Amino acid sequence: MKIAFIGLGNMGGGMAANLVKAGHQVNAFDLSEAALAAASDNGCATYTDAAEAVQGVEAVVTMLPNGAIVKSVYSDSVIGKTPEGAILLDCSTIDVATAREVIAMAEGAGYDMVDAPVSGGIAAANGGTLTFMVGGSETAFSRAEPILQAMGKAVIHAGDAGNGQAAKICNNMLLGIHMIGTCEAFAMAQKLGLDPQTFFDISSVSSGQNWSMTSYCPVPGVGPQSPADNDYQGGFATALMLKDLKLAMEAAVSSGAAVPMGARAAALYEDFNGAGNGGRDFSAIITTL
Ligand code: NAD
Repeated sequence: MKIAFIGLGNMGGGMAANLVKAGHQVNAFDLSEAALAAASDNGCATYTDAAEAVQGVEAVVTMLPNGAIVKSVYSDSVIGKTPEGAILLDCSTIDVATAREVIAMAEGAGYDMVDAPVSGGIAAANGGTLTFMVGGSETAFSRAEPILQAMGKAVIHAGDAGNGQAAKICNNMLLGIHMIGTCEAFAMAQKLGLDPQTFFDISSVSSGQNWSMTSYCPVPGVGPQSPADNDYQGGFATALMLKDLKLAMEAAVSSGAAVPMGARAAALYEDFNGAGNGGRDFSAIITTL
């Protein structure tokens, strides 16, 4: 299949390369010359104009920083420029309202489109092991699924347009809350005289067990290998966790959901990010406790 890929950053670069590996012909566009050069090395045809990159394609995939950019790329360069009948897939993490607006615009112009944000970081994007949570009609989902499968290990239909983004921010709000709770429990256990490894051995098989503890432990040397074992480098940057928590807070306001714990997690990550920790893994918040 001939596919245009727009947004070849940390995530999109590896995703586009995996589409090439799966046998697709990929037209790549990014504002960054370095990103285009890397895409070319990975077998993509590169373009310096998005509207040219979408000429003659059957699908467009976007992986962009935020909702405002997604909306402008779709209205200026994708909708009306991409051949009729193409399937459009936005894999960026953006707010639910903009995702629904852009999909309505695309559908109004006769395209099938899905929002398909991902779980998994740069390593999963490179390794083709992302999880995609997909919002859109049954038809749009069934057309998007085989393209997403070439870049991930799981593709789940979350319901109508925007529901992929809804699943993503609810999941990441829960992750932020769990991580802070896990950090608090380890810090207090230590102050009470408990060895962190002993606390892990007990809590990881008790009712406090959760992913932030058992798969991503914030204490160095405890649990499986995690960013804590690498001075909190790599992994999921605090700035990205804060981005997702802010999107969750916007969605809570617009939907009237009560999220007292999510709001507290957002405030704590805002402070941590503001203190110069945006590039550190989000589990480094344990160092403030
Ligand atoms: P990034 O900043 O590395 O990449 C974004 C790319 O988009 C850049 O190469 C930039 O030049 C390009 N870009 C910006 N405006 C553009 C435009 N108008 N036209 C074409 N290209 C443009 O970001 P990333 O880490 O790859 O993240 C991309 C998306 O994936 C974000 O929405 C992010 O929230 C989400 N995400 C990231 C991670 C992660 O671990 N990095 C994990 C899950 C989801």
